[in-house]
Amino acid sequence: MNRFDAHIEENKGRYFDELCTLLRQPSIAAQGIGIEETAMLVARRLERLGAQVEIFRMPGAAPVVYGSIGNGARTLLVYDHYDVQPPEPLDLWHSPPFEPTLRDGKLYARGVADNKGNLMLRIQAIESWLATQGDLPCRINFLVEGEEEIGSVNLESFCQSHPELLRADGCLWETGGVNALEQPTIACGAKGICYVELVVHGAAYDLHSANATMVPNPAWRLVWALATLKAPDERVLIPGFYDRVRPPSEADMAALARIPLDDDALLADFGIPQFLGGMRGIERLKAHLFNPTCTICGLVAGYVGEGSKTVLPSEARAKIDFRLVPDMDPADVVTALRQHLDAHGFDDIAIIEYGHEKPGRSDPDSHVVQAMTTAIRATYHKEPVIYPTMAGTGPVYPVCTAVGTPMASGCGTGYQGSQVHAPDENIRLDDYWMAMRCMGAFIQAFAA
Ligand SMILES: [Zn+2]
Repeated sequence: MNRFDAHIEENKGRYFDELCTLLRQPSIAAQGIGIEETAMLVARRLERLGAQVEIFRMPGAAPVVYGSIGNGARTLLVYDHYDVQPPEPLDLWHSPPFEPTLRDGKLYARGVADNKGNLMLRIQAIESWLATQGDLPCRINFLVEGEEEIGSVNLESFCQSHPELLRADGCLWETGGVNALEQPTIACGAKGICYVELVVHGAAYDLHSANATMVPNPAWRLVWALATLKAPDERVLIPGFYDRVRPPSEADMAALARIPLDDDALLADFGIPQFLGGMRGIERLKAHLFNPTCTICGLVAGYVGEGSKTVLPSEARAKIDFRLVPDMDPADVVTALRQHLDAHGFDDIAIIEYGHEKPGRSDPDSHVVQAMTTAIRATYHKEPVIYPTMAGTGPVYPVCTAVGTPMASGCGTGYQGSQVHAPDENIRLDDYWMAMRCMGAFIQAFAA
């Protein structure tokens, strides 16, 4: 693999420019900005690699880019996404989100860590492989979607109608990188999600707040309704919410025990004195990976500008996400939420649904995890830390679990300071080249 590494070294300038071209193209799924253009950029890049590319279009959906390259006894599915989170709040960025900027060895841009960097480095690793090692030793199928950041809303139906495109001996998941202790990680599953917005209406228009004596305030109704959802001890109060939660198995707990703890580094990074309820160590990790959540992500009503404005708002809105663990079903959560609100006298509160994803888990002893372990040892000269699942969400269920393809994350450029989804999203450039070398070692180990 020396020639492979040397090829990366020689092409760093071009590879960097190519990554920046992709980063300069906005692709904000939530705002419908630049999706088509970015899908075409990705499709053209895969074609330049030599892949057979097909673009799947469904009404109202972002194009799915599918590219196949190589042949061999095994097939690897690579799942990535070309869409990014909205860049707001813009004033907290130290350089514009869609003008990739290098500062102190870190490349700043929206999407550089999640997920355009990983997508590009995997493609570039294959280019370096083809230039130095000959044909690929396995078939590699790229599935690149454009709606991951809005809950992969159309991917499940795509997956259901194209199971033959998903079947593989293993799937390389979009995420990867090192944890707060600089150890490379592998994750074998993802939580599900159920994202809703609650909307309360009051008067026909915003009123002078003197009318609060006689006109209901939707902001108060929303606050009262929200207060029924979760207790101060963090327990979700929606009846039946925990009914289908599968407790961690003995194997899961054994896997947790092997994960080095990074409580103090995390506390320092987050800038908080302690975790919820004073949790620490394995208790904190167990809650993080195996507990479902109910989170107020946004709350808007009335006047939120500078200074005071005495107003009685006509509308109040809250955005809420529920992170789900096996075997919870997002459709059940919405039904239970509706019943709960009705039972508490909040039948006037509307629920807008923004997308569902089921939780997905895969076998931590699968070939794809073993191949990733081999690749990480060979490149990072460190033992990988294997997480039974991520705390985050992704379409593991439709892409992998539903068709029986085992998955592993890895070959990614993330680190604890990546500021994913936040202003100043960034990667360390050294991690990028390391992950690219890891991808070469992974292809070799996966095919073997
Ligand atoms: Zn993301």
